[in-house]
Formats: sequence, structure tokens, C-alpha cells
Amino acid sequence: MATGKIGVSTQNLFPIIKKFLYSDHEIFLREIVSNAVDATQKLKVLASSGEFKGDVSNLRVRVKADKEAGTLTVSDSGIGMTQEEVEKYINQIAFSGAEEFLEKHKDDAATIIGHFGLGFYSAFMVSDKVEIVTKSYKEGAQAVKWTGEGDTEYTLENTEKAEHGTDIIMYISEEEKDFLEDSKIQELLTKYCKFLPIEIVFGKKKEWKDGKQMDTDEDNIINDTTPLWTRKPAELKEEDYLKFYHELYPMAQDPLFHIHLNVDYPFNLTGILYFPKIDNKFEIQKNKIQLYSNQVFVSDSVEGIVPEYLTLLHGVIDSPDIPLNVSRSYLQSDRNVKKISSHITKKVADSLTDIFKNSREDYEKKWDDLKVFIQYGMLTDEKFAERANSIVLLKDTEGKYFTLEEYENLVKVNQTDKDNNIVYLYATDVQEQYTYIQAAKDKGYDVLIMDGQLDTHFINHLEQKNANHKFLRVDSDVLDKLIPKNESKTTDWSEAEQNEIRDVFNAQLPKEGGMYMVNFEALGETAEPVVITRSEFMRRMKEMAAMNPGMGFYGAMGDQFTLVINTDHKLVKGILTDEQKQMADKLNPIDFEIKENEGKCAEIDELNKDKKEEEIPQVDKDRKKEYTDKINELEKQKRTLLEEYGKGNKVVGQLIDLALLANGLLKGEALDRFVKRSVELIK
Ligand code: ADP
Repeated sequence: MATGKIGVSTQNLFPIIKKFLYSDHEIFLREIVSNAVDATQKLKVLASSGEFKGDVSNLRVRVKADKEAGTLTVSDSGIGMTQEEVEKYINQIAFSGAEEFLEKHKDDAATIIGHFGLGFYSAFMVSDKVEIVTKSYKEGAQAVKWTGEGDTEYTLENTEKAEHGTDIIMYISEEEKDFLEDSKIQELLTKYCKFLPIEIVFGKKKEWKDGKQMDTDEDNIINDTTPLWTRKPAELKEEDYLKFYHELYPMAQDPLFHIHLNVDYPFNLTGILYFPKIDNKFEIQKNKIQLYSNQVFVSDSVEGIVPEYLTLLHGVIDSPDIPLNVSRSYLQSDRNVKKISSHITKKVADSLTDIFKNSREDYEKKWDDLKVFIQYGMLTDEKFAERANSIVLLKDTEGKYFTLEEYENLVKVNQTDKDNNIVYLYATDVQEQYTYIQAAKDKGYDVLIMDGQLDTHFINHLEQKNANHKFLRVDSDVLDKLIPKNESKTTDWSEAEQNEIRDVFNAQLPKEGGMYMVNFEALGETAEPVVITRSEFMRRMKEMAAMNPGMGFYGAMGDQFTLVINTDHKLVKGILTDEQKQMADKLNPIDFEIKENEGKCAEIDELNKDKKEEEIPQVDKDRKKEYTDKINELEKQKRTLLEEYGKGNKVVGQLIDLALLANGLLKGEALDRFVKRSVELIK
């Protein structure tokens, strides 16, 4: 028996492994099983080149737990190792600057393991003692047994072993006994080894017999050795992709599309990406893509490795160029990984373009679900935005789909305003904005539906890309002003008339739920008498603020509405006539008095018109203040009278409520009042 020291430049490697690698203890099983798979594959390669003559058709890796002995054993029938090889591969962990490196990365287990190629040594994270019993495939090889106990000492001795291959026998330490439980082992094997290329056996298949689960004679094979992504797309059918998807995500709905990645230049990459169907549009789940390296599971967190928007997709990516045991930050800065990322972007855009071109109908059918991915991609990835520009669709309120170019052509003629902007009208809720949509359509305009969770951002994006494109929600202004074709005519009401009717309406405007400004427009006899609009700018700012807490200023602001009174409408004219008739007796004396006081103010101003402020005599200043106070007082009186009148005017109340109702703004008590008043008016 030989004893010796493991060749490391630091004495204390093992305590360090044990101490710092606690977070990822479970990966030891992946490391040991991967080694066994590698050894088996190597033997297969030797067999195919004729160097190994034995049978390699049914080589399996076996994982066994023996609770009594406290051991977990991984056995393979691979190439095995000679004594020299054990000495070379297991004992010489040759590296320089180890201490420094360990100190620097002491919190990052994966990086340490990866850096030193400590795959095998990770067994010591969970074991007090590890034995390697191995026999090389080479003719006449002597089997050897290596024993190590987690320090730098080891023993190496000759032993008996019938077949070529290696057994790694791990004496699981007291505090890690969990790893001897069938359920735990099964869980880890399923997580890390599910798609390894050599069959992994753990126990026997079970079946129900006499009300009990009994072992059968058949090996319980953990893995699928030729997972779908390793196969040629030409051999596969749609069902295969669906089935594989549900294997990966048993709870998910059928996906929208899949993309089979198959690249061998300038790097190796295979994989299948799925566009999932998302039920709850506000709960997009990230990190469903699984990352593999040669069929060994690496991670299910791809953030920073694939472009942000692709983290919304599902599926698998497998590349031997993705380093196995390295930290996330290392992975993200890795040049290969960066190339992979940009390649995937290109591939995804190309595949979508193909689907769009070859089966547009299907593409349109899935668009509502697909939209969020494409918009997210375009918003976050300049390159993807360029590529996807021709396949992003707009949907109108009639359910028709258009590419950006098609839509521009559709509306260009009819919806260009006097400043040469192409105005894209949109609605966010067909039911709520029905009146406005209908009015726009009656005028021959087309109205888009923009009800997706990224639409506000996407609209901004499109406006930024196209200087003369303007998006306006249908209720953001009165119809004629949405797409002004020439200077619109203004109302012929005098300032005084407008002010009076403004007070009359103010009396019945809602005092809560937003601010209302009253405006007057000549909209034509057939247009609605009263319309409520919402400034596009303010609304969008509020929406953006809701998504970006940084814009708190806009978020904190109440909603702002404009109540537009159509002075061409018969009912509105009627209100003015009635008000003038009813109120003349009360208002005329006040108006007279206001005029009188205004006249006096004007006299004083005239008197002092050439003087500087400080030269004006104090008496004049005092008198003027007296008159203006009086005017204010009179105006207040007038306003009170008009509001009193307004409160009692049922037509005013009714018109306001109808406009609120058309916007879904009439609720609760106000709605109740409206209903009662309506009944009364019919009577
Ligand atoms: P890595 O696998 O990263 O090279 P390991 O510490 O896991 O590092 O293994 C070191 C070497 O030991 C391997 O490269 C291989 O040559 C040898 N080895 C490990 N496990 C086995 C095995 N089951 N059969 C044959 N050789 C093995």
C-alpha cells in the first residue's frame, strides 16, 4: 500500500472546500455522475475507433445508497484509471496562486470548483471518506483503490475488480445524512442529470402489488439520453415539441411557438425555446429557461446570459461553450456567452419572421399572446427592435392586424393633420371608450386597440422612432381637434356668455375623482352637446409614473379632464337662452355695478398712465383697491347666483352626467341621482 500527499500548494485546501462551499453542497452528485458519464463516453469513443474491443452497447451509470453502511456509490463501466492515472488526475491538483485565488473567491463555491477542476473533490463537501475503486479498460490492467479522508493524505493500493470502470464510494458525513434518502437522491438526479447522454440507474422501477409498492426487475432510469434539442428538427413533429414542453413544465398551458436552435459555427449551441402562453398578463415569470452544458444541467437562472426579454421565454439552451462551474458574474462577462446571447437574438427574430411570412394567419391568431414578448424585446434590445420592426403588429378595434408599414399606408391619407403628423388613434378599452371610437369611425378614421401592459411604452417607442407619428387616445380631445385639418373654427359666444355658462356647469361638476376644466367649442349641430376629454400628455405621464416610481410627481397628481361644451348644439344654446332670461333681472344690476367700478378703475389708470408705480399717489392706489375689491365681491355674488341657477338646471345636470357616463365616470351616488333624474325627466 502506498500513502502520500495530494499535490496542492496549500495545505488547507479541504477545510476551505468544506468551509466555503456549503451553499452548493448538492452539486457534488452532479460532478460525480458527470465524471462517470464522461468516462463511459470516452470508452464509447475508443470502441468506435477500434481501440477498445469490448461491448459498449449497454453501459449504464448506477447510483446506489446503502443506509446501513452510510455510503452513496456511483459506479460506471467506463474507461477506468490505472494507478498512474489516479496519481496524475486525482492526486495532482496542480495549480499556482491557489491561496490567493481562494481568498478572493471564498464566497463563490462554483467558481472555486470550476477553477481548480475540483469536480471529484466536491464529494468531500458531504463525505468523511471517499474511496475510488477503479480498473482501466486497458488489457491486463490492475484494479486500484484510492482512499482519502478529506485532508491532504491518501492511500492507494491494489485491489480486485471484475470489470473495467470506476466506483466512487462516498461515506456520507453525519450532518449530510439527507443525501442517503431515496427521495433526496431522486430529486437531485432529476434536477441535474435528467438529460445526461448515458443512462443513469437509480434503483428498480416500482409497481403496485398487493397494495404495496414493489421493486420490479427493471432498472429505474432517471434520464432521457437523447433529449429533443439534441435531435434533428427534420425528424421531429409538432407533437414532440409539445410533449417535451410539458415534460419541462408540467403545469403550463400549450406554448405559442417553439424555436429549435441548432448552431455549430462559430460556437456550439443547441436548444429549444418556447414562447409560453401567459394567462395573467401582469405576472410574467422570468427565468424558466434551463441552461445545460453538454446535457448537464447548469442553471435555471439565465439572467444576464440571454438578453433580458428572452428571460420571458421557456425552454433549454445547451452549449459546451457555457462554462460549467463558474460564477454568474464570470458567466455574464464571458465572451462566448455574449456571442451566444446576440446569436440567440438573431435566431429568435429570424424564426419569428419565418413564421410570420409562412403562416401569417396563425401568427395573427397568436399575436395577442405573443405581443408582450416582441414589444418587450423591441423596448429593451435595439438589435431586436431593428429585426422585429417588420413583424410587430398593430391591431385595430375591429380585430384586424397590420404591420407598421401596412397601417401607415392605411391611415396616411385620411389621418394626416395640418402639421403633417400622421395621427394614430387608439383606444385602451373598447367598452369604456365606445362613444369616442364610434365617432372616430363615423368620420372614416381607424382606431387601434392598445390595451397591453407594455403599450404605453411601446407607443412612446414608436413616436421616438418616427418623428411625424403621433398617437392619441380617441378621448384625448374632441374629434375635430384630434386630427385638425385646418384652423378650426372657434365658438361665437362672447367671453361674458362663456363665463356665465362656465359657472352654471361648474355648479354640477363632480367635486371628486379629478379636476374638470370647462371649455367652449363649436363642434357642429350634430355632435354631442357635452364631451369629456382627457389630455393625452397628462394621462400618459400618469401611466408612466404608475410604472416608474421615480416619476412620483405625475403619479401624485389627480386626473385632469376637460368638459367641452358644444356651443352649436341646440340644447346648449337653450341653456344659454334660458339662463339669460331667468337671470337677467338679478344679474343686470350686478353687471351694471361691475361696469361702473371698472369704469372708475379705468379713470384712475388713465390719470396715472404716464407715472411710474412709485409716483402714483397713495389715494389713487387706495381707491383703485377699493374698486377692485368691489368688483371681486360683485363677481362672487354673480357666481353664487349662477351656481344656484346651475344647481337647479336639470338639463345641465343631465348633460354632464351623460358625458360622464360615456366615459365610465358616473358611479355610485351620482349614478343613482342620474337614474332618478332621468325617470323624472321622462315623466
Ligand atoms: P474534471 O472532471 O473537471 O477534469 P475531476 O476532479 O472531476 O475534474 O476529475 C479529474 C480527472 O479524474 C478527470 O479528468 C478524469 O480523468 C478522472 N476521473 C474522474 N472520475 C473518473 C471516472 N469515474 N472514471 C475515469 N476517470 C475519472
